[in-house]
Amino acid sequence: MTAALIDGKAHAAALRGRVAQAVAGLHETHGLQPGLAVVLVGDDPASEVYVRSKAKMTVAAGMLSFQHRLPADTPEADLLALVARLNADPEVHGILVQLPLPGHMNAEAVINAIEPAKDVDGFHISNVGRLGTGQKAMVPCTPLGCLLMLRDHLGDLSGQEAVVVGRSNIVGKPMAQLLLAADCTVTLAHSRTRDLPAVCRRADILVAAVGRPEMIGAGWVKPGATVIDVGINRVERDGARVLVGDVDFAAVAGVAGAITPVPGGVGPMTIACLLANTVTAAARAAGLPDPEGLGAI
Ligand code: NAP
Repeated sequence: MTAALIDGKAHAAALRGRVAQAVAGLHETHGLQPGLAVVLVGDDPASEVYVRSKAKMTVAAGMLSFQHRLPADTPEADLLALVARLNADPEVHGILVQLPLPGHMNAEAVINAIEPAKDVDGFHISNVGRLGTGQKAMVPCTPLGCLLMLRDHLGDLSGQEAVVVGRSNIVGKPMAQLLLAADCTVTLAHSRTRDLPAVCRRADILVAAVGRPEMIGAGWVKPGATVIDVGINRVERDGARVLVGDVDFAAVAGVAGAITPVPGGVGPMTIACLLANTVTAAARAAGLPDPEGLGAI
């Protein structure tokens, strides 16, 4: 391996440290304790794990954590009523409705019912528009985490050729917007992109958010490029279930200048950014400046 390892766990620990410091500062100077409400509908085991882990880290950072668990057959109107209560609750600065929602619910309608200033996932249509037009926004946590690691690693990103593979609303599109706002020249690639390996080889910064195990091989990567692997894929190896990214780590690490591993790369930064967004939301709600070092945009 010749590439430098971009250690997501270390980046996330540092960001959580800055979050805890900002929380302590808000408490000391303004008697303010940021609060995050997480709503889980149904009993999807993966979502359960995420929600528990989010609550634990929220409390560890000195914030208030509110958890709301609703049965899978909850009528949508009841979930919307809960969101309305959380919107009005002054102790709640951030609201996260864990996705996916059960099939009978309209996820867009639920997300767009969240007060945009409390939308710490950054999925509300208003925050999407704000990010796209360069206004203060709540930014989706996964791409925000990628941007913070890129900035830490590369410094100024201005003028870099960035290729994002995957155009989902939660990762690819906001990632492209963030890189554009950071003055990169951005290509957003997807399943219909022609000659994807050649497009990827143009990249100084390559972000993979596809959901295809180890799709990106060494021949797709420009020597020295910085590679951020968002993919989380469960595959079977030698009879064991393991996690791999969208990038063939072993091969690409011999070509890239720097690379994130899976696990231990983008994943840990996602939750840390959720905490950071909650603190930013709390500061903004109180009319205070954005806390330093939390990636607020
Ligand atoms: P998604 O909604 O399924 O979107 C996948 C994107 O990849 C689509 O835009 C699709 O293109 C594109 N794609 C699929 N096959 C392709 C191919 N062969 N060549 C080029 N592009 C292709 O997925 P997502 O929600 O963005 O998630 C992507 C990955 O990131 C998943 O592995 C997910 O588990 C992971 N993830 C990780 C985190 C984290 O915290 N680390 C957070 C969120 C997601 P089309 O639009 O043309 O179909």
